[in-house]
Amino acid sequence: MTIQAAKHILKDYFGYDSFRPMQQDIIESVLQNQDVLVLMPTGGGKSLCYQVPALVKPGLCVVVSPLIALMKDQVEALREYGVKAEYLNSTQSSREQEQIENACLAGELKLLYVSPEKLLSAGFFNFLKRLPLNLFAIDEAHCISSWGHDFRPEYTQLKFLKEQFPEVPVIALTATADKLTRQDIQQQLKLEDPKVFISSFDRPNIYLQVKPGRDRIKQILNFLDAHPGQPGIIYCLSRNATESLAAKLQAGGYNAAYYHAGLPAERRATTQEKFLRDDVQIICATIAFGMGIDKSNVRWVIHYNLPKNLEGYYQEIGRAGRDGARSEALLFYSYADVASLRSMLMEGKEGQVDLQMTKLERMQQYAEATFCRRQILLQYFGETKAEPCRNCDICRNPPATFDGTLLAQKALSAITRVKEKATLGTLIDVLRGSRNQSILSKGYDKIKTFGVGHDVPFLEWQNYLHQMLNAGLFEIAYDEGYTLKLNPNSEKVLFEHKKVPLVKFQPITAAAPAERAV
Ligand code: ADP
Ligand code: ZN
Repeated sequence: MTIQAAKHILKDYFGYDSFRPMQQDIIESVLQNQDVLVLMPTGGGKSLCYQVPALVKPGLCVVVSPLIALMKDQVEALREYGVKAEYLNSTQSSREQEQIENACLAGELKLLYVSPEKLLSAGFFNFLKRLPLNLFAIDEAHCISSWGHDFRPEYTQLKFLKEQFPEVPVIALTATADKLTRQDIQQQLKLEDPKVFISSFDRPNIYLQVKPGRDRIKQILNFLDAHPGQPGIIYCLSRNATESLAAKLQAGGYNAAYYHAGLPAERRATTQEKFLRDDVQIICATIAFGMGIDKSNVRWVIHYNLPKNLEGYYQEIGRAGRDGARSEALLFYSYADVASLRSMLMEGKEGQVDLQMTKLERMQQYAEATFCRRQILLQYFGETKAEPCRNCDICRNPPATFDGTLLAQKALSAITRVKEKATLGTLIDVLRGSRNQSILSKGYDKIKTFGVGHDVPFLEWQNYLHQMLNAGLFEIAYDEGYTLKLNPNSEKVLFEHKKVPLVKFQPITAAAPAERAV
């Protein structure tokens, strides 16, 4: 089976002339029965990576997808292309399900979408064993990782696929790229020496900007007036907020609707449909909105509140500008939001409080960025972007900097001296020469860099370290107690005299950040 056959399928069924560069390599690997992990931003074209091989190979491809609503859309879209596809989930009657199962057994289908619940349900395993399987595709594969932002416990049982069907290749796909999630996916799915494909997450057509969360409604109205008729999404933290914001916008004469998971499925489907057809211009929504929505002309995304982490944020703004045309992402930032997110996370409903808190801090650092926001985002996702983007608010209006090279050298050499075993707070204590119990017990008061930064106050150090972290001069090991680690950039500062510009710390007096509750 050659890529030639795949190209014919691409043309005959989907009407496209060529693969995007990475799609072709991915499909070739899948056709060679290799396990594959695909990290590609939303809109990158992940679906074809398993749909085309499913059609090239004889047999049936089973697609595991956590989103029932999405499943239906995908299957309907495939049918329009003339592809024999069905889905199985709990919304169907047992008679309907039986018919579909029979069609699979009769070899009448090429793709079968199933929810993880269905896949793991009693009897399904025996059914699978009777099918001529050609591929398992695990969509939204980051759901398997408790490091990720969308953990689904049932995903962790999917390892049985590789255990029970070692001869069937697995392709795992996600738009979440951080390193820990990636490792988790490989390990938990028991992928065999997988080929990993990471496409660039850069979305250069989206203008990034952050504004203080004051007079948000007024700012939004101004924004809307400057973007007449352009479709967009406003993400809010709570369901109530989506409703009241939509009401305010409607009262102001705007064509707005709201969407959240508390609404009946039918209502949600119609709202989504109206937005897709441009019958509704503005959707005020919780993060429940947008997963898998294929609307290419979303011109802007506003975050009314600070999101919980950069993974979620990037996925949400990624819904803008999928057609490649100029688009905007506007984030409102306030300490009040940080405080309420903190107490939400503290209640611990999401588990892993420390991890969630650290991710929130990274989100906050992004909002407080002092240099190119895109560089910060890409850095976070493990990509290096050498030049500032010129398409974010900071690049357009850069703040004045001073030469912070010496400060950076002090910090980085302290990280070396504590053998990369200190957290950010401990490192500041070392730099400032604080003789507290924890420092003394570890013997950090004896190391060479102890106290070299005593003249810089704690909060100021914290701010500079955040700036350095944003610049990718060192890293936080989430899986090693949040200890600070050096990387190749650190070496450049320590040994190659790389200059480190920093923005002078300005203590914020207006509203103090809320203390972390205990
Ligand atoms: P993802 O799942 O990564 O978010 P999709 O698979 O939904 O992305 O693809 C996004 C859009 O790009 C779809 O409209 C799809 O039809 C289009 N697309 C994907 N691959 C190609 C291609 N090779 N040529 C043209 N359009 C493509
Ligand atoms: Zn920039």
